Amino acid sequence: SLPDADDHVDVLIVGAGPAGLMMANWMSRCGVRTRIVDKRGTKIFNGQADGLQCRTLEIFDSFDFGHRAWIESNHMLEICLWNPDPKTGILTRSDRIPDTIPNISRFQQVVLHQGRIERFFLDSIRENSIRTACNGPSSDPEAAQIRVEHGVLPTSLSIDESLVEDTEAYPITVTLRHLTEEEATPAQKATSGNGQAVQDGIFRSNLSADDTADLIRLTNSLAEKAGRTETVKAKYMLGADGAHSWTRRQLGFTLQGDSTDFIWGVLDVIPITDFPDIRMRCAIHSEASGSVMVIPRENKLVRLYIQLTTTNQDGQGAQKYDRSQITPETIIASAQRIMRPYKIEYRYLDWWTAYQIGQRVGDSFSSKERVFLAGDAVHTHSPKAGQGMNVSMQDAFNLGWKVANVVKGLSNRSILKTYQSERRRIAQDLIDFDHRFSRLFSGRPAKDVMDEEGISMEVFKDAFEKGNLFASGIAVDYGASMIVAKEGSGKEQGDGTEVLGDAKLRVVSKSNLATGIEVGKRMPSFKVLNQADARPWHFQELLKSNGTWRVVVFAGDIRDAEQKKRLDMLGDKLGGESSFLKWVTPKGQRYDSVIQLLSCHSAPRRETTIFDFPEVFRPWDDREGWDYWKVHVDDESYHEGHGQVYKNYGVDPKHGCSVILRPDQYISWVGEMDDYESMESFFKGFMVDQRTRDGAKDAVANNVANG
Ligand code: FAD
Repeated sequence: SLPDADDHVDVLIVGAGPAGLMMANWMSRCGVRTRIVDKRGTKIFNGQADGLQCRTLEIFDSFDFGHRAWIESNHMLEICLWNPDPKTGILTRSDRIPDTIPNISRFQQVVLHQGRIERFFLDSIRENSIRTACNGPSSDPEAAQIRVEHGVLPTSLSIDESLVEDTEAYPITVTLRHLTEEEATPAQKATSGNGQAVQDGIFRSNLSADDTADLIRLTNSLAEKAGRTETVKAKYMLGADGAHSWTRRQLGFTLQGDSTDFIWGVLDVIPITDFPDIRMRCAIHSEASGSVMVIPRENKLVRLYIQLTTTNQDGQGAQKYDRSQITPETIIASAQRIMRPYKIEYRYLDWWTAYQIGQRVGDSFSSKERVFLAGDAVHTHSPKAGQGMNVSMQDAFNLGWKVANVVKGLSNRSILKTYQSERRRIAQDLIDFDHRFSRLFSGRPAKDVMDEEGISMEVFKDAFEKGNLFASGIAVDYGASMIVAKEGSGKEQGDGTEVLGDAKLRVVSKSNLATGIEVGKRMPSFKVLNQADARPWHFQELLKSNGTWRVVVFAGDIRDAEQKKRLDMLGDKLGGESSFLKWVTPKGQRYDSVIQLLSCHSAPRRETTIFDFPEVFRPWDDREGWDYWKVHVDDESYHEGHGQVYKNYGVDPKHGCSVILRPDQYISWVGEMDDYESMESFFKGFMVDQRTRDGAKDAVANNVANG
């Protein structure tokens, strides 16, 4: 049985920034025993990251707090490009483009500071862990809560390699030290900031040296006085401890890439200005004084990213910039030079920082598929494209359900390899994108076509527009693997990682059956109606992040006798005793706790009822009756139009098709509507057969009982 004390956990998370919190959120949602520690005394309250991309909002919505971010944030709709007029040299608006490409998502890019986002996570983790504890065996839900333990520093990490393939073992041992309040509070750089005491982000900026080694030395010397030391054993661990990652260093992994000499300052202010586009996102290139990016924020704030200087101007090679010279006053003075002839100043300063652009990516994202790294620990880059927090959270979003499924004995450990193969490629793409984007942004505008050192504003606009799709997070397209059945299955990934399961069981998608759905990408969203109550839902709203897989049956026109026969035969197989829906589900658990069966047909709603569907599509529960929330229809709604899902997903409205979706809403497989055999083969590649699992456990128990 599971050890119950805090010194044995399924998952230990180091770092409670966006990546660590996303992981803790998944664990709380899936009911996995977890601890999360952070060396800092408190969460952050303002400053830091602010841009939320549309894919991130879709993910928040799948965790039920998307609406909080959507309502509180500032919505950014247009980007204005400002450049020196070619004739007069005077700063002028040269172009406008939409901030989010229209129709790529039901959300658009918004901005809200990281402190609020961390708040949403903390609330969600609390609610989820109390709820899962109430459904589980715990008599004290409060005690079962996953709480961020602040002021806690790991000081040693070891992995017992002989145990890594044993799914019941705790191969990871970590020593934790509890810090004093003083140690856990980062020193803020004193600033007048117009007379205010202002929080700065210098302690988390990459211009600041890492203080982990100092903290470890300090706590070593104060060990007895400063606080408790404890040893924790874990099955899995996530190092989400930022760019200076201690976990990464313990594993002997490195970040590879380079660092440029561009220094940027960041001010969050309420601006007082005559610049007309201050409430738009703007990219402003001056003739010779550098660039400013304007990000309009919530609560009347505006963030200014301001290029301070390059240190290699003198041609003598790189010099170290003296960061003690950087203050809010020097940063706003730079902005004033760049934005001339417009005037800009402020009375209220909320936060500020400075950083140096560097693009690096980790050589490895996991050790033995037991200790993983996510977020800034494995990729660092400039913040202007608003990517770091988004991609960091999405790393943990990719990993969380996989770890939860393995810990709960539902999936084989082999799926964990897809974390590195999927996310390292994204990190590399991100670094390449950022490389191009920041160099274009930091460069001086070309005076004319002959000016080879300058940046062409046409090239800049083109990069901005193309970059927008990448930056939205919607373009993510995971490669072929045991959980993404598309052309290319059976080959090694680009980074040499082996991610395939039993080759004999492999299935490949028939992508032509759903031309608007791309295997490897996230499921796009259009409105469907619930068959039973006619309520319209965005399809993504049906795909809550709760760790379950989904088989979506686009049943086609079920009035057609031939099609109805196909549906009934599929229903017989899915509902049969030997159905994969049954063998993946542990004894005693709800029928949809591991794989949910959803359907959407194309016959008129008024001519059909849920009883036209075989029972497995609308299962019976002795306490709750029929499940009315699984059968949907592509039809006109009373108030919200017609979602045209068959047309938008490119599915034949007579013939239909079936789709398998991962717990993170990415598309695994597309095939014939009634191709039960391929669906089962797909799941056999990595799901644990609960009949043999229970059998094996019973056998062990009997042996023990029989001495
Ligand atoms: P972090 O947020 O760095 O969190 C790591 C956590 O680990 C911290 O709480 C730290 O205290 C803790 N920790 C570190 N070491 C240890 C240790 N040894 N033991 C215990 N705990 C430890 N991203 C965007 O997406 N959009 C933006 O608009 C954006 N703007 C930015 C603006 C600025 C000025 C900056 C500096 C960054 C910006 N970013 C932006 C980037 C974003 O802030 C980071 O990419 C994101 O915070 C990374 O999340 P993380 O969880 O990986 O790491």
